[in-house]
Amino acid sequence: MKLKYIQPNIDKDIKRYEVLLDKLKKIDDYKQGLTIIEKINKIRDNFFSMYWLSYINYLLDVNSEYWNKTEEFFSKYNPIMENLKLTYYQVLNESRFKDEYAKEIGNKVFEIASLETKLLNDNILEELKKEKELGNKYHKLIASSKVIFNKEELPLSKIGKYTLSSDRYVRIAANKAKFELFASIENKIDNILDELIRVRTNIAKKLGYKSYTDVGYIQMRRIGYDKKDVKMFRDNIIKYIVPLINKLKEKQKKELQIGKLLYYDDNILFKDGNATPKGDTKWIVNQALKMYESISPKLSLLFNKMNIEGLMDLDSKDGKSGGGIATYIPNYKVPVFISNFNGTSRDIVVLTHEFGHSFQLYSSRNLKYYENWWPTFDACEIHSKSMELLTLPYMNLFFDKDAHKYVYEELYTTLKDMCYIALVDEFQHLIYDKHDLTINERKENWRNLEKKYMPWLDFEDNNYLERGNTWQKQSHIFSNPFYYIDYALADSIALQFYALSLDNEKETWNKYIDFCSQGGMYSFVDTVKKVGMKSPFDENTLKEIVKKISNYI
Ligand code: ZN
Repeated sequence: MKLKYIQPNIDKDIKRYEVLLDKLKKIDDYKQGLTIIEKINKIRDNFFSMYWLSYINYLLDVNSEYWNKTEEFFSKYNPIMENLKLTYYQVLNESRFKDEYAKEIGNKVFEIASLETKLLNDNILEELKKEKELGNKYHKLIASSKVIFNKEELPLSKIGKYTLSSDRYVRIAANKAKFELFASIENKIDNILDELIRVRTNIAKKLGYKSYTDVGYIQMRRIGYDKKDVKMFRDNIIKYIVPLINKLKEKQKKELQIGKLLYYDDNILFKDGNATPKGDTKWIVNQALKMYESISPKLSLLFNKMNIEGLMDLDSKDGKSGGGIATYIPNYKVPVFISNFNGTSRDIVVLTHEFGHSFQLYSSRNLKYYENWWPTFDACEIHSKSMELLTLPYMNLFFDKDAHKYVYEELYTTLKDMCYIALVDEFQHLIYDKHDLTINERKENWRNLEKKYMPWLDFEDNNYLERGNTWQKQSHIFSNPFYYIDYALADSIALQFYALSLDNEKETWNKYIDFCSQGGMYSFVDTVKKVGMKSPFDENTLKEIVKKISNYI
């Protein structure tokens, strides 16, 4: 990443932050208060900018000595800065100028403040440092593991293409190779999670909670809904989406002309293979530019900028951590994102997804401060998923005659993934609520939940998978606990955006662009209300969505 990294002068920054907080407490004129708030946010901006640049560069090359060092720096100082942020929240929340401040910097920061100050505690700094280290250890293990396939050594992120081959023999061999590798590091991953559960449970206990689940809900800033609502949402996924996927599985079996769908067939939807992009990365970027030009100048302007300024790192490489991630660098007022292109349809999913995040972050860059740039995660995934879905009518640009295959795959996968997401979510509740389960008991529970949320999965003779291990590839469980149901909550809104666009595309794009400029000003529940969509916590919402989308596909 070309953006310049300068390690924060941390001792000086911390001291200044503390002095400013002290002044803010004693202020007797709210205008002075606003000046101090501005200064505090300058320090925060610089820290976040470098924190994210370090992390992104680390993900690009997990073996780099330099970025490992900067990551050590942030493992140590991020918890301290987080604590200062919580003190800042506390001072804001207790201020007699709260109403005056809210007019300038918005209400959401106060909503978050009332919630997050519950996490303020100097005695958990050691645990927080350990937690970040364990998360990075997982990423490093995955990014530096190699699969032997066709006598070639491949990073895990590059085997994906072969696991999706239309040739059943190729995908069987690729899946075997992939899961043999996972089986060889199974114990290491088990131990990382085991230790994480211990560390996180300690954090919860020190903060006065019975389970880390409660801490997770606060960290994920779940405002206006609780565990009961989330459980109802998961139950509705079982009630309305699982049966639909079961039905589509029958269709898939017929299409593939096989008697039994096995785990390596799960994502293959067409006999002659799923759609694949008709060109390389450079070509894809050019086609995307054409697409955004024909939708809106606002979209094409940013996409072009990100391309020219090198703010996207798309191809998978040795030592690059898998998956996609987008973030915002306040010092430079630009979004950045990375992905791991591997020549499959997923490349287009990730490109549109991460660009959706980028567009939202860029559209809200002039709002006041971090809390308004960043929606909470449940809300921020609406922007990314909607971008995936709203661009579906343009897929001939990437897939030519196979565009219809991609459209089916995207809608089907969105719904199927909601089942997997709910599974990961229930698993996370379980491992923290029953934190003394043994490693094997955890796996048994996972496998049972898998049967509930994804009953169609058949692992045949794959012992590693049959023993309940598919969670091992899910990085969120390690570095972003409880960040997962957010995707499904957001999907339920993005699918409503898509349904609207089927009736009026142009109007829906305008609505979307306007929605992005609101950034993170409102909580998820309020965001959904403001944009005029139905809440996923209403009993009938999923039922209606499934009806409309299943008619369409
Ligand atoms: Zn996302």
